[in-house]
Amino acid sequence: MNKDVTLTCTCGALCAKLLNVGPQHGTHIVCHCDDCRAANNHLGLDDPGAEGVDLYQTSPSNLKILKGGENLGVMKLRQAGILRWYAKCCNTPMYNTMKSPKLPFVGVVTSTMEDGADIGPVKTRGFVKNNGKTTHPGMRHMMAGMISRMARERISGRWKDTPFFDASSMEPVVEPIVLDKAERDAAYSGL
Ligand SMILES: [Zn+2]
Ligand SMILES: [Zn+2]
Repeated sequence: MNKDVTLTCTCGALCAKLLNVGPQHGTHIVCHCDDCRAANNHLGLDDPGAEGVDLYQTSPSNLKILKGGENLGVMKLRQAGILRWYAKCCNTPMYNTMKSPKLPFVGVVTSTMEDGADIGPVKTRGFVKNNGKTTHPGMRHMMAGMISRMARERISGRWKDTPFFDASSMEPVVEPIVLDKAERDAAYSGL
């Protein structure tokens, strides 16, 4: 079953719609990496710790901003980092994307989803730390979904339909904030 799901920041000012939500259209993952935790720390949120960050990966063409788009901000933990989009109104992490629209991918933070969204069970866990080892159970499943979705978006031209990048310049619609060293050190401290 697919349906459209409403995505809202904590305060409700930034609201989007995600189309075609269902396990066949995206991948439900949990990311346990330090970067996701550091990003939460920088935004002043509770450290997700061992629980990780719950994400639904799909194509950006499925995502439509409904209102409050002026609240959309974007940060990078380092110059080469992925784009971490958040709601500036209330510092809610919302979406992760690549640096270019030509890699059409979005990871939606599922805590922004309306209740009852059917995204299926968690299929992949990234950066699970166990006895000093880091593993990625189900990573092959995640990569297969990501690659096939990106290929379909590229072939169909739908990759140009994205709320995150300007269609002509290919630049992010908002200038990314890059953390400086002191901010980065603070964000990662205690992890
Ligand atoms: Zn908000
Ligand atoms: Zn992560």
